[in-house]
Amino acid sequence: MLLADERVAVVRTALRMTTDRLVVGTSGNVSVRAGDLIAVTPSGVDYDRLTAADIPVVDLAGGVVDGGLVPTSELPMHLAAYRDHGAGAVVHTHSVHATALSLLVDEVPAVHYQLADFGGPVRVAEYATFGTDELAATMSVALAGRAGVILRNHGTLTTGPTLAKAYNRAAQLEWLCQLWLIARTGGEPRLLPAAEIERCVEAFAGYGQEPGGTRSAQTPPTTGG
Ligand code: 13P
Ligand code: ZN
Repeated sequence: MLLADERVAVVRTALRMTTDRLVVGTSGNVSVRAGDLIAVTPSGVDYDRLTAADIPVVDLAGGVVDGGLVPTSELPMHLAAYRDHGAGAVVHTHSVHATALSLLVDEVPAVHYQLADFGGPVRVAEYATFGTDELAATMSVALAGRAGVILRNHGTLTTGPTLAKAYNRAAQLEWLCQLWLIARTGGEPRLLPAAEIERCVEAFAGYGQEPGGTRSAQTPPTTGG
């Protein structure tokens, strides 16, 4: 089976979106790239019914190479993230706090250093109808220089070199938005200065380790994160 490991990872990640409440029902979609191919969730299928063999494999132009189901309606958005931003994996959610924030502001306020893991404040992309090339275009503009974007009145899209990283960013983005929404119910939140976020962007560059590695063989982790 083409992209066997990637297809398994796509199914697991899609299921996790549901259990972590980043989506409801068949909302959202997930993809990962391997070489010139992409494994991506099919459109409109309950994730708990999916097997790896159900996962469509497409080429970089979106043509189906393997799998019997139609790929996600948001394939144009996923392809734009690979083509325009060099993503290794893409996660699209409808997480509720991030979507709520998109109704109120144009970027995620600097409430916490975790924002730096996105390369700077995450922007809100202008609204366009789901599944359209127009949405892929507004998403791509707002994703410039960042690893995540919020789609106005719709949801989130996050990227990473791996599916695990893109997924972690989806969960962290939701957490950041929830933090801001909670704080502002009590008054005007105090934000971090742009210079501090910039400093943390640099600190995040060395953050994270692979299990099974040896301490001596790695660059020491920075204090970020
Ligand atoms: P699909 O089921 O086609 O992936 O659509 C879900 C979605 O979130 C559309 O924006
Ligand atoms: Zn969606």
